[in-house]
Parts: sequence; C-alpha cells; structure tokens
Amino acid sequence: MHKDEGRIQIRGARVHNLKNINVDIPRDCVVVFTGVSGSGKSSLAFGTLYAEAQHRYLDSISPYARRLIEQVEKPEVDALEGLPPAVGLHQRRQAPSVRSSIGSITTLSNSLRMLYSRAGDYPEGQAIIYADGFSPNTPEGACERCDGIGKVFDTQAQLLVPDDTLTIREGAVAAWPGAWQGKNLVRVLLSLDIDVDVPWRELPKATRDWILYTDEAPQMPVYRNYNLEQTRKALAEGEPASYKGKFISARRHVLDTFKTSQKEKIKQRISRFLSVTPCPRCHGKKLKKKALNVTVEGVDIIDFSRLPLREVNEKMNKLRGSVAGNTSERAQVIRNIADDVIDRIKPIIALGLHYLSLDRSTTTISVGELQRLRLATQLKSNLFGVVYVMDEPSAGLHPRDVESLVNALHDITKAGNSLLVVEHNPYVIKGAKWVVDIGPSAGKEGGELIFSGPVDELAKVETSPTAEFVFNDKPLVSREKCNSSLTLSLKNVSRNNVNNIDIDIPLGVMTTVTGVSGSGKSSLISQALVELVKEGLGSVKDKTDGEVNEVALLSSEDKVTQEGFIASGSDNISRLVVVDQSPIGRTPRSTLATYTGMFDQIRRLFATTDDAKSREYDAGHFSFNVTKGRCPNCEGLGVVSVELLFMPSVYSPCSVCNGSRFKDEVLDVHYKKHSIADILSLTVNEAQDVFEDNSAVLRGLKTLINVGLGYLTLGQSATELSGGEAQRIKLASELKRAQNNNTLYVLDEPTTGLHLSDTALLLEHLSTLVDSGNTVVMVEHNMQVAAASDHVIDMGPGAGEDGGQIVAWGTPKDVAKNKKSATAPFLKQACK
Ligand code: ADP
Ligand code: ADP
Ligand code: ZN
Ligand code: ZN
Repeated sequence: MHKDEGRIQIRGARVHNLKNINVDIPRDCVVVFTGVSGSGKSSLAFGTLYAEAQHRYLDSISPYARRLIEQVEKPEVDALEGLPPAVGLHQRRQAPSVRSSIGSITTLSNSLRMLYSRAGDYPEGQAIIYADGFSPNTPEGACERCDGIGKVFDTQAQLLVPDDTLTIREGAVAAWPGAWQGKNLVRVLLSLDIDVDVPWRELPKATRDWILYTDEAPQMPVYRNYNLEQTRKALAEGEPASYKGKFISARRHVLDTFKTSQKEKIKQRISRFLSVTPCPRCHGKKLKKKALNVTVEGVDIIDFSRLPLREVNEKMNKLRGSVAGNTSERAQVIRNIADDVIDRIKPIIALGLHYLSLDRSTTTISVGELQRLRLATQLKSNLFGVVYVMDEPSAGLHPRDVESLVNALHDITKAGNSLLVVEHNPYVIKGAKWVVDIGPSAGKEGGELIFSGPVDELAKVETSPTAEFVFNDKPLVSREKCNSSLTLSLKNVSRNNVNNIDIDIPLGVMTTVTGVSGSGKSSLISQALVELVKEGLGSVKDKTDGEVNEVALLSSEDKVTQEGFIASGSDNISRLVVVDQSPIGRTPRSTLATYTGMFDQIRRLFATTDDAKSREYDAGHFSFNVTKGRCPNCEGLGVVSVELLFMPSVYSPCSVCNGSRFKDEVLDVHYKKHSIADILSLTVNEAQDVFEDNSAVLRGLKTLINVGLGYLTLGQSATELSGGEAQRIKLASELKRAQNNNTLYVLDEPTTGLHLSDTALLLEHLSTLVDSGNTVVMVEHNMQVAAASDHVIDMGPGAGEDGGQIVAWGTPKDVAKNKKSATAPFLKQACK
C-alpha cells in the first residue's frame, strides 16, 4: 500500500454496521461525517478512529494499562495509517458526572488565584497569601467554620419536633430513633427526672432545649417498666438498675448519623431533620476571612468569579491599562496574567459563551455549551499534531453563532491539528473542507461509504440523502398552518435571567421558541413553564417535601428560585409530557426493549413455549434482571466494566456468556427458532416479522419505526444511545399511548442528532399530535422547524443579563420581519 503522510487511511472498517469500508481523509483540516441517524457516522469517527487512537495511546503508556486494554475490544479494522493521537470532545454517551466549575475546567481559576495572591490589594499589614490560600478546596483556603462548603448544617426545633402536642413517650422528638433505642431514651429521661407523659410544649423551655441540643451524653441507671414516680423512688432508694442507658440529644443524633452513616436510606431519613444555612462566618463565600480581604478592582475573588466572562474580560483590560508603562514587579505580574486570561477568554466569547461565570457549575450547563467550552480551551492549549473528534458541536447554537463556530474549528486546524466532526448542520457541513458521507440508510441498510471528498463535490452525488438536503433550500415539510383561539397565559414569570415577564402560549398549535444561546429559552420553557403546569395539574408539587436528598443538601448550588403563576388557560391542559435529551438509563441493564415495556410481553411469550413449559421456566427466567436465568458472571449485563486509570470506565463483553446475558440452558429455549438472546440482537425492523401475530409487541415496534429508530436492536443498552435517540424513544413511548388530546408536549431541541431527513420525519409526527388537538412547544435552533411551526416566540435580545425578554412573537413570517430580533434574518431565509 502506498503510504501517504498527509492522509489518514482506513482500510476494512467493520465496527458495528460498517461494511468493510476503505476511506482516506486529509489531515490538518476540518472533516465532517454526515449521514442519517444510525448510518454509521459515529461508528467510523468514534468507534473506529478515536477508539483506535485511544488503544494505541494506552498501549504506549504502561504495561498496566496494556493489561487493561486487552480486555477492551479493539475496533474491527484491518489497517489504519497516518493516525495522529486523538482527543475526544464528544458529547455523546458522556454526561459530566463530576462536579466542577467553568473556572476549574478552563483552569482560569488558577490564573485568578495567582493574580489575587501576587497582585491583589492587601489590607495594611496583612502578609501575602499563596495562590492555594484562595481555593476553598485546600486547608489553607477553606473557611474554618464550614470547611469550605459555604453552608452549615444544623437542626431546628420545628424539624426535630414537628408536633409539639405529643408527649415524649408518644414520639414528640421525631428525629430520635425508634425501636429499642427510642425506648431507652425515654427511660433515661425518666431517670433524669423529666416527665415524658406531658405534651412537649408544656415542658420548661430549658428542659426542651437541653433534650434537643445538648452535647452532654450522661449515662444513667434506668428501670425498665417504671413510670416517673417509680423511677424517682427507685433512684432514691438505690434500687439496682435494669441497665445503664446513655443519653444523646436529638441534634447530636442527627448530625452524627448524617456524618457517619453509610446507608443511603438512613441518610435520606435523617436529612429531613437537617436545615442548611449559609455559613455565618464566610457568608457562603467558602474562604477564610484573610483571603476575602484581598481585592482586585475592588472585589474579592469570590465576587470576581461570579462575574460573566465578558465583565472579567473588561476588568482585566482595565487592570492592564492601569499599569501601562509601569515597570514594577507587580505591574509585570499583572500584565502577564491579564494577557493570558484575555487571550483565553477570547475564544470562549467568540463561541457565544460570554454570559457564563467562572463559578458556574458544569452540571448546570448544557452538553453543547460544555463541548464548545472545551473547544475554546483547546484553541489555546498549544497542542500540535493531534486529531480532535467531536459530536455535533453546533448543538444548542443559534444560527447567528454558527459562523464563529466554523471559524474556531478552522483556527484549531491552523495550528496543525485535524478535526473530525459528526454534524447535521448545513452551515457547518458547507464550512468544512472535506466530507465523509455514510449511508444510504440506517443500521443494516447503512454502513457504506457514499462519498468522501471536497464538500462542494458532494452536491453532485445523487445517491446521497445528505446532498439533497444540504444543497437544496426546499422546506422540510409543507404543513397546513393552524390558528389558535385559546392561550395559556403565564404572568410575572422569573427564573434565572428571565425577570418578571408575561407570556401567552397558544394552545392546540405548534410553537417554536428561538433565541441566542443563553437568552433564557430553557429557563422559561423547560424550567418555568414545565414547573408551573405541573403545579397546576397538582401532580408533583411538594411530593418531595421533607425528603431533601443528600446530594441536594451538599450541593454548593443555592436552590433556584422561581416566580410566576398561570393566569388562565390551564383548564385546557389535562396532561403534560416533557421530552428531553436526558439518558433513559445509565447502566446496560436498561435496554430499548425493557424501557419501552416490550420485553415484558416478549418474556411472557417465551414462557408459553413448550420448551419452557417442559423445564418449568416462567417469564422470570427470561429476564436478565432476575437471578434465575441470567449469566452469573456478569449478572445479566452481558458486559463487565473495566476500570481504566485516568479515564471513564469502559465495558468489555462477558467471557462466560459472550455477551448473551443468559445461562446456556435458558438459551436452549426457542420462540420461532430464536433464543431470547437472538431476539435481543434483532433490530426493531427485523423483529416485526417475528412478532407479526402479537399486536402489543408489534405496536411498540411500529412506533419506534415511526420515529426513525427501526435500526436499533432490541437489546441496545441505554448507555449506547445518543441524547437524540433517547429523546426519540421517549417520544415514541408517548406516541404509542392512546391519543389523548389536551396534552402539552414540551421538547428541548428535539432535532439534535437528527439528519435533516429525520428532522422532516419528526416534524410530521409533531404535526399529527397537533392535528389531534394537542399542543407542542419546543426550544429549537433549526430555522426550518421554526418556519414550519404555527407560532414563534423569540427570546433575547442577548444572552444572560442582556436576555430574558420576549423580543418577538407571532407567526414565523411576522417574527421574520422584526428588526430587533437576532433570529429574524435567519428565519426570513427559511420562510421563503
Ligand atoms: P450514527 O452516528 O450515524 O447515528 P452509529 O454509528 O451510532 O450511527 O450507529 C450505526 C449502527 O451501529 C446503528 O445500527 C447502531 O444501532 C449500531 N451501534 C451503535 N453503537 C453500537 C454498539 N455499541 N454496539 C452495537 N451496535 C451499535
Ligand atoms: P438558553 O436556553 O436560551 O440557552 P438558559 O435558559 O439556559 O438559556 O440560560 C439563561 C441564563 O440563565 C444564562 O445566563 C445562564 O447562564 C443562566 N442559567 C441557566 N441555568 C442556570 C442555573 N442553573 N443557575 C444559574 N444560572 C443559570
Ligand atoms: Zn464558612
Ligand atoms: Zn455473562
């Protein structure tokens, strides 16, 4: 084979559905991978290229890692030449699980600490503090009172004693344990001469406070079945005690249990008696007083971290200007740090993320934002000669900002790096240098190379569904527009950057909510609207009251506050369905078949076969979540997890059942010549034939096919689904239910991960819902989707503090005419 240094050469790729394909792609430029969902784009970009690069990298670092990766499947590919080391920046199959902040993942927090340490304004006479002293995660920096958590846990009388008409014997102190320990405490109190048979509120205040809060833990002789009188007498006469009992105050019991218990259930129970308040010493700022005394531009480091990045940028520029011409050491430090920070913030702002602050937790930003943030960080990382692999970097991005994204992608390649991007956005596709189009269809009907070459040439490829949509400006669907006479009226809504606005949402039609990233679409729709409607329907509100979970308690986020109410229209909504992109399960135990409920029916079918009857197997034997029939080695997972150093753990196939999940004897049972494992490996399309005479299973299969997921296998585990696929599975489950009208469907960027042809399909389904009297409200950046809806609500005008308003609303054509709307020019193009 001729070796070409400038190209990555793939020979014989067979990962997942790929059909032994050969592809050559140029290095040091932006390459897009296109094709309908399930065609095999990710199998090539991630499953083959990225996986192989990772394999080689691990192989090169240590014998320990080598042993581990032997257990991880090597991608099925004959040869891969010219592959540089790879960095994956993909959003698929990874949710940020570890809490971190924007400041820490960009390392901008480090620079800030350095700045405060070496160039901050210190009070007279205070010694300089090292950079570590400005981090709440170090002993040097953490506030002594709250250990750097910013809040303190305590108890309150109302929580410990919710009903003060009860006596102690009746359980007034609800926080105390029950059973023997509870009885013991009653006896101890009797020995302490406290009346346990009067209502709690009639006890003297001093006694009540002592019982609830004391740190004393006296040991007392106690008498098993005595009342107060008898106990007094026994004590006076020195009668031998039943045993010695120890007292513990309610507060100590709660705090000790919360701190030491390993059991989730117990922590849950006990956390009901805890209250959380901002630390009185640092006022929630987590740092020692002396660190908070140091200021830059008049603010302490915590307040600085709360500023939007755009303001951080302004302050840095101001600071730099203030030391112009100054040659002192301090001025030099300021110049160095400020230059570096300004330089690194620039690409973040260019990618439309100027509204983020350094202290913002990564768990509250979207995957799209996170990916662009990583991209921006990479721009300044000075890495050279690597290949970045990304999944839909345009997700969550307003069309206005797509151009800067494309520029940023090209900037990365200028430094001598290659970028492989899975994308559906026509602008990103057209902005790339090279395109690899996989197809023609999904699953077994895909996996072929349709085209690999310069982007312009794709236009001429007649067999490519991608070409048809990318170079063709025709509308995705032409739907009959509907009018609405009813509206759902929300008033005085506030949430995040949305501040006291009123909004009318037309019922019985399709509404798209648009606006630049950070303008407040999710705050208004996915958060405020959803919660207000839920409240109106009386479903979940306060269900969790009193059951504050530990994670929420310990989280450094303050509770989000929301205001607003539904003024009218809620009578016309009988059900709320929220379809988002959150995963449908986090372990391989949740599969397509189990999630959609089809597997229950299938297992029952298996139990009715003669094979099963003769062995006395019931439906439970065909479940991989029940011990009876599942493989004992992997406990029915089909895979075992391999922990890799420094990396997320990966799954490798179980060596006992070879991934079938079941015991051999269970696999001997056949339904129409298929074992239960065979069934799980069928695609939804293929399963139609097997279950043609079972209407319930068939209906489930059909709805999946209707949302374009016929290519998935029944056993596809939830961990292998993309966000878009998860969303469509949820949608399918909803479509399957009896078509109840008066349902409000709320969707968050439903077209993420969808090829334009799949988007067209999705629009048709949403139209069907509207035609049968339901309401669809979705947050979306695809202008063709907005143009096809009945109503558009455009938020803005900007992001963060500059957003949160309704800029324009009405029919797509009306909104397209609005001069103030950032969306209008793009919507206008799509409305043609
Ligand atoms: P795309 O990225 O084009 O949407 P994928 O590469 O994710 O497509 O999937 C291509 C095919 O491979 C699909 O049929 C999909 O169900 C299948 N597939 C994806 N991941 C796995 C996996 N981990 N194991 C088996 N099959 C998979
Ligand atoms: P969009 O959906 O239009 O991208 P969002 O509603 O996600 O916008 O965000 C609007 C504003 O609210 C942004 O400034 C964002 O930083 C802020 N924001 C969103 N979620 C949170 C949160 N959980 N905590 C604090 N601020 C938030
Ligand atoms: Zn504190
Ligand atoms: Zn196994």
